Amino acid sequence: MSSVNPVVQSAPVALDIAAIRREFPVLDQQVNGHPLVYLDNGASAQKPNAVIEAEAQCYREYYANIHRGVHSLSQRSTSAFEAVRGKVRQLLNAPSEKEVIFTRGTTEGINLVAYSFVEPRLQPGDEILITAMEHHSNIVPWQILCERTGAKLVVVPISDAGEISLEDVEARLSERTRIVSIIHVSNALGTINPVKQVVDLAHARDIPVLVDGAQSAPHMPVDVQALGCDFFVFSGHKLYGPSGVGVLWGRYDLLKAMRPWQGGGDMIRSVTFEKTEFADPPARFEAGTPNIAGVIGLGAAVDWFMALDPAAVAAHEADLLAYATEQVGGIAGVRLIGTAHERAGALSFVMEDAHPHDIGTILDGYGVAVRAGHHCAEPVMRRYGVPATARASFGVYNTREEVDRLVMAIGKVRELFG
Ligand code: PLP
Repeated sequence: MSSVNPVVQSAPVALDIAAIRREFPVLDQQVNGHPLVYLDNGASAQKPNAVIEAEAQCYREYYANIHRGVHSLSQRSTSAFEAVRGKVRQLLNAPSEKEVIFTRGTTEGINLVAYSFVEPRLQPGDEILITAMEHHSNIVPWQILCERTGAKLVVVPISDAGEISLEDVEARLSERTRIVSIIHVSNALGTINPVKQVVDLAHARDIPVLVDGAQSAPHMPVDVQALGCDFFVFSGHKLYGPSGVGVLWGRYDLLKAMRPWQGGGDMIRSVTFEKTEFADPPARFEAGTPNIAGVIGLGAAVDWFMALDPAAVAAHEADLLAYATEQVGGIAGVRLIGTAHERAGALSFVMEDAHPHDIGTILDGYGVAVRAGHHCAEPVMRRYGVPATARASFGVYNTREEVDRLVMAIGKVRELFG
């Protein structure tokens, strides 16, 4: 498998993985008579005690609705909730915590930008640029928008290795392009896209850029100012936090000029039957009672992740991915899907004769949890002429020994399917 170019360069691994594993109660169990090897982090990561405890503590000690209460519990909930904006600001190196909007996740963040930012700027014939490796959540909202407005979706192709070329991006930017919306790290292929260079190309034509950071935020340091993007979205549950909460970060001047997403309580300055005045961001985009304990849990996840040091996490996972690429890629009959120079997080593969669902089921029999399917990226599957892939995706608690267990279990698949 010498054509495989594994991953970003490894730095020295400084993390105490055994200690980290002890913080995740769910990892300490047998599945089908084998120790659990959890390699489905791309779909959702497990939760450390710090997150479980932060959410439980909120419910146990100080839960109340936020923002509107004068009583002590409400004030305590409000400050714990609001403090999370500052933590996320640090995680992303954003200029201001007023730019941090809490959502239900990446999907809602993209839909929000499509509706509140892009739609009012669209004319029939305008274009939205994405890549051929997007998750459905960065395809479907734009298609719905195109149907409503007569705009067109333009797609940058990917190479056999699973990479985009900047020439292809440049060739598809036009005076009709109204936004570029690009996945930072592919959940299906693991490709790390050259987002900064894409932003530079787009900005040279005054085109704003949204970055889908669902698979980058949990795996590497993210600096939205260095990337230069205009919007960045991610999900809490992939970053060791609760499900049902996520973040949209946007440049404040853009947010300030955007129409609301949903109407309701909390997003207004004043309401009469004649006219409602909307609150400034971030409240303008946070109608109704949010997932209060979930956001507080997200704050705990961000604290926990930052304390590990995202660069150390990236180095550890780069080592795992390089090792897995070599070991799994070296098994006869295995074809890796996605062999980009720069990869993170995930290793997708197919096997002669065995359907990915069979692979997933047999691996589960050995306690190894991987995902089998199209990974919400059907166009990627079509690009490689496969119905689905098996995907091992890594988190900071995974080890080389677990990769060995994955390889052993894939060997059993081979034995069965010959
Ligand atoms: N974008 C990418 C790259 C993803 O991997 C995912 C989830 O798998 C999403 C978007 C959607 O995230 P969520 O379902 O949390 O909204």
